Amino acid sequence: MLYDIIIIGGGVTGCCIARTLSKYDLKICLLEKEADIAGGTTKANSGVVHAGYSSPREFQKRNLCIKGNSLYTQAQKELNFPFKRIGSFVCALEDNQIKGLEEERKEGIEDGIPGLEVILDKKTIKKMEPKLTDEIVGVLHAPSAGIVSPYEMTIALAENAAMNGVKFFRNQNVKKISHSDYTFIIKTENGEFEGSNVINAAGLWAGKISKMVGLDYFDILPRKGEYILFDRNALQLNKVLFPVATKVSKGILVCPTVHGNTFVGPNAQNITDKKDNATTTAGLKEVLEGAISLVPNIPARSSIRNFAGLRAIPTGKYDFIIDNTDIWGFINVAGILSPGLTSCYAIAEKVEDFLELLGLNLTVKEDY
Ligand SMILES: Cc1cc2nc3c(=O)[nH]c(=O)nc-3n(C[C@H](O)[C@H](O)[C@H](O)COP(=O)(O)OP(=O)(O)OC[C@H]3O[C@@H](n4cnc5c(N)ncnc54)[C@H](O)[C@@H]3O)c2cc1C
Repeated sequence: MLYDIIIIGGGVTGCCIARTLSKYDLKICLLEKEADIAGGTTKANSGVVHAGYSSPREFQKRNLCIKGNSLYTQAQKELNFPFKRIGSFVCALEDNQIKGLEEERKEGIEDGIPGLEVILDKKTIKKMEPKLTDEIVGVLHAPSAGIVSPYEMTIALAENAAMNGVKFFRNQNVKKISHSDYTFIIKTENGEFEGSNVINAAGLWAGKISKMVGLDYFDILPRKGEYILFDRNALQLNKVLFPVATKVSKGILVCPTVHGNTFVGPNAQNITDKKDNATTTAGLKEVLEGAISLVPNIPARSSIRNFAGLRAIPTGKYDFIIDNTDIWGFINVAGILSPGLTSCYAIAEKVEDFLELLGLNLTVKEDY
């Protein structure tokens, strides 16, 4: 069978693209190397649907995040996954941090982020989030931020795509791609697949997949983030709480989950092994100390689980790589670091535009 589109990678990026394209009258399949989907970076992250003020304006991930955030409301209506728009605070603990929050607010509003406000009145802040430290000086409140269950959303996307005709093949580790005459032949450990267009959404391994067709212009490096999850009865929060961001990370947050727990994390540690998702004593200590500066009464003894996730960091620019490449029909959707979960619906729309440029007949199916 010759597929119109083969998607490599069954994380949130690949599954969201699959679901978005499943409305068209096209033959599509998705290849995932593991026994199930959503087992990569999609499984272990903060699950925050970011408002979009934090990425630099020159990066495409900023606009894709803002747009992606706005697309969540409709997606949840259609797919019914756990998602709550609870809002976030960036928490300034020193007076000299307020200027930065004001700048983020101003630029965010200019870029279309709804409802951004800087709140300086301590009473108002504490009323909105009583667990926050008394040291709080001011917050940037983003009411459009939310929380989602990343893997449940990805499963919902995949199920809907499958219902609409996308074929999912698991245990298909892509090993080799050859291409000629506008056709790609993909060899996996367990089979062979033929397609006219290929979308590389292989997360940490996207650089390796790109190299298989001779496109050697980026690599992906892992950056670990560790977390501690607490018992539901130990701490309840109203808002996602961020510290003021650093250059490499949004910092260690204290955050509710859609299931009613609270977690703290992540830290940011560059590593070399793309399979190393072990937590460390030093890492968990760092996470706990960071969290305590925002919420002093962190219930350290009520931890029920530690885990770590690996960010897919592209070499070069700290931005998504979403390219309609020089190889006709081969699209890279790589380096999907944070806020990739938030941006997935907007990323899928961008891929849709590429496919239209490539001449695919995007006719919506009657029974979609
Ligand atoms: C610590 C941390 C915190 C984060 N917090 C947030 C957040 O709060 N909000 C947010 O918006 N984003 C967040 N992110 C980013 C978000 O998690 C990612 O952008 C998103 O999960 C990327 O999904 P993906 O599908 O691109 O990659 P993945 O989920 O890694 O999926 C790639 C898939 O490709 C498969 N694959 C790889 N190689 C092959 C091959 N050869 N053959 C077949 N299949 C293959 C893998 O098995 C995997 O299933 C965070 C990330 C981390 C690590």
